[in-house]
Amino acid sequence: MKRLRLLALFLVFTSPALHAAEPTRSENAILVLVDGVRWQEIFGGIDASLLTKENGGIEDATEIRKAYARDDIDAQRAALMPFFWRVMAKDGQVFGNQKKGCVVHVANGKNFSYPGYSEMLVGFPDDRIDSNDKKPNPNVTVLEWLNGKPRWHGKVAAFGAWDVVPYIVNRERCGFFVNAGFEPLTEPMSPRVDILNQLKLDLPKQWEGEPADAITFYSMLEYVKAHTPRVLYLTFGETDEFAHSGRYADVLESIHRTDRFVETLWTTVQAMESYRGKTTLIVATDHGRGDGPREWKNHGKDTKGSENIWIAILGPDTPALGERANVGPFTQSQIAATFAAALGEDYHAAIPKAAPALDGAIAPPR
Ligand SMILES: [Zn+2]
Repeated sequence: MKRLRLLALFLVFTSPALHAAEPTRSENAILVLVDGVRWQEIFGGIDASLLTKENGGIEDATEIRKAYARDDIDAQRAALMPFFWRVMAKDGQVFGNQKKGCVVHVANGKNFSYPGYSEMLVGFPDDRIDSNDKKPNPNVTVLEWLNGKPRWHGKVAAFGAWDVVPYIVNRERCGFFVNAGFEPLTEPMSPRVDILNQLKLDLPKQWEGEPADAITFYSMLEYVKAHTPRVLYLTFGETDEFAHSGRYADVLESIHRTDRFVETLWTTVQAMESYRGKTTLIVATDHGRGDGPREWKNHGKDTKGSENIWIAILGPDTPALGERANVGPFTQSQIAATFAAALGEDYHAAIPKAAPALDGAIAPPR
């Protein structure tokens, strides 16, 4: 028995070929990007040093403390992200806790959005991507690569809160459905979608490039219920916007709300026959942020530590190893191949430039 378990562990941890090319239970895969959320909040919850007017724009921290501060670190991080810690980290795997010897970082050296969104989707950094400008990505994403295969063709969809997402996935070329920013959703046609489209236009615009995440999220949910895409990409942006404004309480509320959105997405698909028990979910971020009373607001190549990120994965092909410790370092580039591996596709073999899947994240069925 013990030897069998050792053998299983050996196979999981040492054989990259196995977790990439074997058929899997997952027939659907969902990738959610939450913009600019630090590993510090993910693994530690609320940062007490930022609960002041000067550091975090907070006049009175009573309510925010009551909501998210706890004596015990496990309880504290679960208060901020209950679904992440009670479901994803329990039944799946979480990478990036530097305090437990698991470092995940971006490989692009730029530590801002477009380079990170792209690295995550194409599987390698590209120095040509050096701004957040609306320029079509010259690289093919794993989404486009999957859409080119008969098994997934026409079953891929992308929803971005950020209006640069259509350029990152190269809408002109990619051939799958993309909705982003303030664009109305044109299908399905329904009273709910009408209201969402109206709110998207008529709510006060907080930011130039994106509506509130809730609008993008509920629009995506209507699309999923109507069209059941098998490969889904979704991005949230509020967390980064509020952090740049130094509004720490709003950052925390956004992280908490995003966690609830991810839970709602998960329970919605698990209630649908085409997804139940055969869907892998990956949640990750495009970049980290600095550490310190002012540094937390920023990121970029000159902000120390903002290269550090985190990744969570949950699904029927992911062994429940929980919070990964003393492994790695890993890179953001590995997300593309991990995502494909969940669907039984070997992206790394097809695109050798792309990094291999995360060790042990996808195991062959027994
Ligand atoms: Zn930013």
